[in-house]
Formats: sequence, C-alpha cells, structure tokens
Amino acid sequence: MYNQMRGSILGLLLLISPTITARPMHVVIDPGHGGYDTGATRGQLNEAEVVLNISHYLRRLLQGDARFQVSMTRTSQKFVRLSQRAQLANHKEADLFLSIHANASPDSRARGLEVYFQNQLPPDEESMYLANLEHEGHKEDERYSNRDELQGLQIPVSTTPEVKNILKDLIRGHRVRESSLLAQNVVKHWTGSRKSQQHSVLQAPFFVVSNVNMPSVLVEVGFVSNKKEARQLSTASYQKSIARNLYQSLVDFKESMDK
Ligand SMILES: [Zn+2]
Repeated sequence: MYNQMRGSILGLLLLISPTITARPMHVVIDPGHGGYDTGATRGQLNEAEVVLNISHYLRRLLQGDARFQVSMTRTSQKFVRLSQRAQLANHKEADLFLSIHANASPDSRARGLEVYFQNQLPPDEESMYLANLEHEGHKEDERYSNRDELQGLQIPVSTTPEVKNILKDLIRGHRVRESSLLAQNVVKHWTGSRKSQQHSVLQAPFFVVSNVNMPSVLVEVGFVSNKKEARQLSTASYQKSIARNLYQSLVDFKESMDK
C-alpha cells in the first residue's frame, strides 16, 4: 500500500516540482565561523579568514558565469549564527548550499580534503564527534529546526497528512542523493592535497547542512594542524586553486542536473 502510494505521489511530485534547470542555479556559499569564532587556528593562521578568502574567490568565479546566481552567508569577518545561515538559504530558496571549513586534528599528520553531506542514517562515531565540534559555541542554535520539506511547492489543500509525510520522505531522499553527487564531484575535481587515510566523502549531521531545504555539502579544505598544509592554506594561490576546484565541481553538478 505504502509503495503503491509512493509511486503515484512521485508522479505528482514531478508535476509540482519547480524546474530548476531552466534558470541559473542559485548557490549559497557559507564561509564557516567568523568574528570571535575563529575556528581552527595555527599561529597567525585562522580558519575563519582562510575560508572567507576562498569563498570570495569562488563567488567571483560564479558571478562570471551566467549559469549561476550566488549569495554568501557572510562577506566579512563577523559572527553569523548557524541558524541565521540556514534561514538565509531557506528564505532565498537557493538550489545549493556549500559550507566551507578548514580542519584540525590532534594528529599533526592528518591532512587533505574531507567532504560531508547531510544524511538520514545514524552517523558513525567519528562523524558525530566532528559534528559536535562544529556545534561548539552554537548551543542556542540546537533548538532551531524549522525545516519545511514542502516549502515552495504548491500542495493541494486537500492533501492528507499521510500523503504529505510520504512526499517529505521522497523529497528528503532526493536531496540526499543530490548532496551525495555534489560531494563526489568535489572529490573528483580536487587537485589539492588528498586525505592521508580513509575515504574523503562522509556523512554527518552538521547543523548547517542538515537544516537547509536544498542539497548541501560541507567541505573541509585541509588541516591547519598539519604544518605543510597550513603553509599552503595561508597562500592566495592555493586558496584560489581550491576555489577553482570547487567551481569546477559546481559546473559538473549543474551539467548533470540539466541532463
Ligand atoms: Zn569549521
């Protein structure tokens, strides 16, 4: 019964879904941290500044491409709450949310890219630990969760709660698949330092990627706790090359969505 219902609802969903391919893809870039929240630090180097620079470079690339529209959750070194970032993206009804961070580890050998996307599955312990770290200093935001899966869709008034729930399920699954595809694209186009061990695409319930109504990923561009990588991350040329990699992955993602 449930599966039968899912089938007919999927048809309905295809009819009411706005076609996002006909217009520019609206990307919200989210530079992590800011203001008193410096994120990971090493000497003069701090995460909030590095990721803001990368975000500005990426924004410039997207602004020069008519296939994209771009917004940022912060454009200066000021503190913006996680809930405000999610709200901004939801309010603008963006198509994609890209959060940019830099990593730190007690193991100074740890290096390279990590890409997280929102999940529906129980996270593994490592991911949960990282998500908690990301939450530090943002306790007040944990109460916030106003995601509305059906936002922006013209749902007939007569739709029953049961049908609405199935619709929400389908939309969530679709969004997770798109987020996963974008995460894979980021890895595919990455030319910077690679992760020292394990695979680099992970699922985690980071607040920002889990509270927006659109596909979203969180990219950890490297470890400031690694001596060599910290040196790279502090240079404009490496920051620009990261921005170009991210831009390429967005172009790739847009092209596969258009197909
Ligand atoms: Zn961070």
